[in-house]
This record gives sequence, C-alpha cells and structure tokens, in this order.
Amino acid sequence: MTKKELVFLGPPASGKGTQTSRLSQELNFPHVDTGSLLRKALAEGTPDGLIAKSYIEKGQLVPVEIVASIIKTRLKEADCANGFILDGFPRSTEQAEILEKMLSEIDADKDVSFKVIYFDIDQQLLLDRIIYRRSCAKCGKIYNLQSLKPQCEGLCDECCSELVQRKDDTEEIAKSRFDTYFTETAPLIEFYEKKGVLTKIDANGEVEEVWDRLLEAVK
Ligand code: AMP
Repeated sequence: MTKKELVFLGPPASGKGTQTSRLSQELNFPHVDTGSLLRKALAEGTPDGLIAKSYIEKGQLVPVEIVASIIKTRLKEADCANGFILDGFPRSTEQAEILEKMLSEIDADKDVSFKVIYFDIDQQLLLDRIIYRRSCAKCGKIYNLQSLKPQCEGLCDECCSELVQRKDDTEEIAKSRFDTYFTETAPLIEFYEKKGVLTKIDANGEVEEVWDRLLEAVK
C-alpha cells in the first residue's frame, strides 16, 4: 500500500486549516498542524511551549529545533503510518530540507506518494479573514464573523462550546505573520515546483468551491 503524504502551503488565513481538517476526515488521515501542536504545548506549559510563546506572540517562526522535534515525534506515531496531512510545516527552506531527511528516515523502505498543495489566494482578503476569525475552544472548528458565522452567536455549532479569538489574530501580529510568510515560507513554492511535487489550487471563493478543487488535486 502506498503511503500518502500531503503537505499544505499557503499564507495565514488562506483557508488551509478549514479545508485540511475536513480532508483529514474524508481521507481518514491525521491532520498534523504545527500551529495547534505549538499552542497545545504552550497551554500545557511544557519547556518547548514556554520558548515558543514569545515567537508566536510576535508572529515570528519558532526556532526550528523545537518545531522539528515536535513534528518528528508526531509523524512517527502509528496513526501516520499510512499517510498524513501536514499543515504549517515546513515554513522555510531549512525546514523543508529537515522534513526531507526526517521522512527518508521514517519511511525507509516504504512506497510513498508525496504531494505539496499550494493555496493560491488574493492577498487583499487575508487580513480581514484573520481579524474576524474565531475558533471553538474545545473542538477547534473555525468560523468567520463575516463569512462563516456560527448559528448561535459566540457558540460552536458542533459542540456548543465558546468561540475564542487566537491571541495572534490581531492586526499588528497578523501583519508580522504575513511578513514572515513572504520572506521565509513563500520561497518554498519554487523549491517544490522545481522538484515537480507542487499542485497549485485557486483558494479564492466559497468554502465548497475550494473543497471541490482540493478533492480534485489530491486524487
Ligand atoms: P499557524 O496556526 O499555522 O498560523 O501558526 C501560528 C504560529 O505558530 C506561527 O505564527 C509561528 O509563530 C508558529 N509556527 C507554526 N508553525 C511553525 C513552523 N513550522 N515553524 C516555526 N514556527 C511555527
């Protein structure tokens, strides 16, 4: 059986989180999301979480050793054996090279399909999306106060828990996250294009339209 590895690239608030969570259920592969793993470490007050805190609060990349170690531990877990959806890693060429090495070790003699899906989106929309984004404190489902409102104000449709705003979803930190994305992460588009593993999808439009394009891309 071929192991299916899907890596997602795209600017903050490009819709990756919403689509990849749904894809994880559709394909029955775990959704490995570095932002969530780091926020979990931070909430639990682990040593890695404490170091990560100041970088997350400034919208900068957390030191590579910390992220790489969290990701490696996660990708070695049994539920990733047949495939995974990787969201938020790599975020720099250095991280991409680390991932390549890590996977060659983890996959050893496995038959693997490795694809990178890039969410190509109009940048004008993104800052608003970030400022109006809310997520469920319990199950993580993502909403938008303008375009994807919950049925009851302030509460998750799925589990009725409180909706919260991420601390780094303010205008000031979001601007810094975009700077980080364009300087550190965007060069990965060319990096993966040259390797012939990149698929671009148009991430503009309604959630359902993007979903259909995504399903087509991961076939
Ligand atoms: P996200 O939830 O993907 O927007 O990530 C939130 C924050 O977590 C980012 O702004 C970074 O500070 C940190 N982070 C997430 N993924 C990485 C990564 N691969 N490398 C370094 N820092 C990361």
